[in-house]
Amino acid sequence: MSENKMDMLQALFKRRGFVYPGSELYGGVANTYDYGPVGTELLRNIKNLWWKVFVQKRDDIVGLDASLISHHKIWEASGHVAGFADALVDCKSCRTRIRADHLIEDYLEKIDEQRLKNEIAELHLIDHEKRNIIVSTKKVEGLSPKEMEIVVQHFKIPCPNCAEFNWTVVRKFNQLFPVQLGIVEGEQGSAYLRGETAQGIFVDFDNIVNSNRVRLPFGVAQIGKSFRNEITLGNSVFRTIEFEQGEIEYFFNPEKNDWKKLFDDWKDLMWKFITDDLGVRSENLRWREHSDEERSFYSKKTEDLEYNFPFGFKELWGLAYRTDYDLKQHSTYSGKELAIVDPETFEKVVPHVIEPAVGINRLFLMILSDAYHEDGERVVLKLSPRLAPYKVAVFPLLKNKPELVEKAKEVYVHLKDSIGGVVVWDDRGNIGKRYLSQDEIGTPFCVTVDFDTLENDTVTIRDRDTANQERVQVDKLSEYITKKII
Ligand SMILES: [Zn+2]
Repeated sequence: MSENKMDMLQALFKRRGFVYPGSELYGGVANTYDYGPVGTELLRNIKNLWWKVFVQKRDDIVGLDASLISHHKIWEASGHVAGFADALVDCKSCRTRIRADHLIEDYLEKIDEQRLKNEIAELHLIDHEKRNIIVSTKKVEGLSPKEMEIVVQHFKIPCPNCAEFNWTVVRKFNQLFPVQLGIVEGEQGSAYLRGETAQGIFVDFDNIVNSNRVRLPFGVAQIGKSFRNEITLGNSVFRTIEFEQGEIEYFFNPEKNDWKKLFDDWKDLMWKFITDDLGVRSENLRWREHSDEERSFYSKKTEDLEYNFPFGFKELWGLAYRTDYDLKQHSTYSGKELAIVDPETFEKVVPHVIEPAVGINRLFLMILSDAYHEDGERVVLKLSPRLAPYKVAVFPLLKNKPELVEKAKEVYVHLKDSIGGVVVWDDRGNIGKRYLSQDEIGTPFCVTVDFDTLENDTVTIRDRDTANQERVQVDKLSEYITKKII
């Protein structure tokens, strides 16, 4: 099953309304997706749970909802304007994306002088002066993407990750989406759609400190869309140009808090959220530490919590110690000092941050992948009841018996009013088919109103995972279900 699990999942997504290709009516826009009615409920449940655990239940974390459209200087300060405009190349085998200059320079370091000289001399499409620079410095500064492409092809430079030689073309790429503001053309570049939610938190640091009673250490959390104009390679909502992030910047005084301890505490919290709150099996999770080359230059340590997706272990949730880099950058670019006064020493502190950053859409894909089970003919999504899009389905045993339908409607309305979550009605086909239909979207409970209900006011409630049925008093139903979905 595992090799085509992704196909099965994507077929289910479309068939049952989890995810549709974006703009499909007009032929689609690559790497965009729409969440259907069932998917929207799941996505919302994930976000609400994340928010509850990391903001509402904590004393030391506050929320923020910053604008998607943001000043170009934010992205210059953050390094995204320069960093996102590098010449990049993607490995088509393992999907590693790498800066072409790094790929080439790392390779040239390893080959001997004489061979380098001879081989570079053959690259007539690159002008003489540039070739001399390459040979003497082993650097490719000043080469165009096309020229870097020539070098990569000539040396058949393998992928440092998977050792294959299977690159896309080298291309210059600014991943930020410019926004044209106002009605005058040609003012592009004055604003961008945000490339990550984190920067909004740094930019609002002073506002938050001045308008809230926050004290170090404290966190600011945000859930929202970010945009990166990149070439992605399928796998449904795993990587898309528009995506939703759940980010926390956890600010602390490095003189008073040991970053290693905070880092490890966050690792525990993240792991626990996935296993305990989302109910995902821990055997499909692992930590992976970034190598020195892979890590951003300002980060002292980065680890990814990875999940074993149908296409392999991939990043789900990054944890990075970003030091005071971002606040200092914004201080420099804005000319305004971003710091907080320590209430004990009255000293100004530029806090350091630890950043747990999760892809909400990846949580969504992970949860569905983990919940997907085939049980003979039956497809069952064994979702945690608290995440399930629909909590209960109510059926009249027969739809042509008005007294059953009437009683079932009564139960349905009662549950809709008393349960926190979606209750659905289904009277199509036979009971067996209705069960199968609810199993496929992970509805944890199905309630059937039958002739006994009319006699003794009990209904059958059927459990999705075990298919066991029990009879429950109608007036106890809401309590029975509520206990299991909270
Ligand atoms: Zn590769």
